[in-house]
Amino acid sequence: MSVEIIKQDPFQSMIDRFNIAADLLDLEESIREKLQRPEKQIVVNFSIVLDNGKRQNFEGYRIIHNTALGPSKGGIRYDTGVHLNEVKALAAWMTWKSAVTGIPFGGAKGGIICDPSLHSKTELEKITRAYTKALADIFGPEKDVPAPDMGTGPDEMGWLMDEFSLAHGKTVHAVVTGKHLHSGGSLGRVEATGKGVSIITLLALKHLKIRPYKTTVAIQGFGNVGLHTALFLYQKGLTIVAVSDISGAFYDAEGINIPELILYYNLNNKSIKGYTKATVIEPEKILSLAVDVLIPAAKEDVITKENAAAIQAKIIIEAANGPVSSGADAILHQNNVLVVPDILANAGGVTVSYFEWLQNSLSESWRMHQINTRLEHILTKSFESVFAVAAKRQVTPRIAAYIIALQKVAINQEVNDVTIDSSKYKLN
Ligand code: GLU
Repeated sequence: MSVEIIKQDPFQSMIDRFNIAADLLDLEESIREKLQRPEKQIVVNFSIVLDNGKRQNFEGYRIIHNTALGPSKGGIRYDTGVHLNEVKALAAWMTWKSAVTGIPFGGAKGGIICDPSLHSKTELEKITRAYTKALADIFGPEKDVPAPDMGTGPDEMGWLMDEFSLAHGKTVHAVVTGKHLHSGGSLGRVEATGKGVSIITLLALKHLKIRPYKTTVAIQGFGNVGLHTALFLYQKGLTIVAVSDISGAFYDAEGINIPELILYYNLNNKSIKGYTKATVIEPEKILSLAVDVLIPAAKEDVITKENAAAIQAKIIIEAANGPVSSGADAILHQNNVLVVPDILANAGGVTVSYFEWLQNSLSESWRMHQINTRLEHILTKSFESVFAVAAKRQVTPRIAAYIIALQKVAINQEVNDVTIDSSKYKLN
C-alpha cells in the first residue's frame, strides 16, 4: 500500500527543531526572532535568449540567513521546485551546519526556478551569468560565497566566478567554491559531501557497535551526493542493497556492484534507468526496506509523519538537506531509529568548500591527504560533540546539533549586536 506523502513546509521543519533547542537553551525572545529570520532575502528576475532565439524569463533567489560567524556560505540550486520557503530553510541549515562543524562561515542559499536538464550548456551559462550579474553586489569572498547544490556543479561555479570577476575588474577565485581544479577549485571538493556522509555513517555504526562489514544500506538518490556515498561505503565493505534515482529504484540482497553501476550511469547519460543487474522495485519502497542504514540523499521531506512508522532501518543518515520533516521526528525516536541530522551528516561539502576558500585566499594548493585528514578530523570532532551533548541532555542528535549551533551563533550574534550579556549562556 502506498501512503500519500503530504509535504511539510521545510522552513516550518527548521523552526520546529529550532524552538525545541531554543527552549532548552532558554533563549530570549528577541534573539530567537533574530535567528529565525534571514538577514536578507533577494528575489531577482532576469531573462536570457534561448538557443531557438526566443527570450525566457527566470526567477531566482539568494537568501542570507545569518553572518554572525563569518561570510555567508551556501549552494545554488537549479530546480523547478525551488521556492522561497525552501531556500529560506536551506539557508538557515547552512548557518547551523557551519556552526556545528566550527567553520567560520554564516549561512545562505540560492536557487533558480528552472529545469537544468531542459537547457543546453550555452543556455545554462547565460542563466548563471545573468543571475550572477544581478547579485554581483551581494556575492564576495568576505561577504557571501556560493557553491554547488542540486542541479549545479563546477561549470556553473566557473561561470559565476568569471562573471563576478568581470564585474569587479579582477580575478576573484574565492568568491565561489566547488569550481573546477583549473579555475581554482580544490582537490576532493566534488566528492566531499559523499565522503563526509560515509565518514559519519561509519562513526554512527561504531556508536551503535555495529561492524561495517556486510552492514546493509539503502540509498535514495544517485546524484553527486548519493553516488559518492555509495562508492565510499562500498569500498569500506558495506553492502549497498538498494539505490534509486528520479528514474527508478533497484534492489539486490547480495549487494549492488557500485563501481559497475557508476560505469553504467556515466555511459547512460547520468541515469541508472535500465540497469539490468539488479531487481526493479517501487521507488518509494526504498525508504521502508529492512536494512541497517537508510541514506536519503535526494530532497527534503521524503520521510514524513505519514511514512515514518514504516521505516525499518536502525539508522538514518541525512545526506540530503531536510529529508526528514519535523512531523516524523517523534515517530522515529519512539521506534528507536537513530537519525544523524543533515547539519552534521552532509557537512563534508561545506567543510571542503572552506578548504577551497582558504586555499584561494592564501594562494595555496593542498594535497589530497591533507584535505582528507582535515575533513576526517573536523567531522569526527563534530560527531563527538553532537553525541556528547545528546547524551548529556538526553535529546536526539538532531536537537543536540541545533543546541550546539544555536549557542554558538547566539553568542556571536550578541557580541555583534553588543546588546545582551553573552555570559548568561552556559556552555554544554
Ligand atoms: N550545497 C552544499 C550544502 O548544502 C554545499 C554548500 C557549500 O559548500 O557552501 O551543504
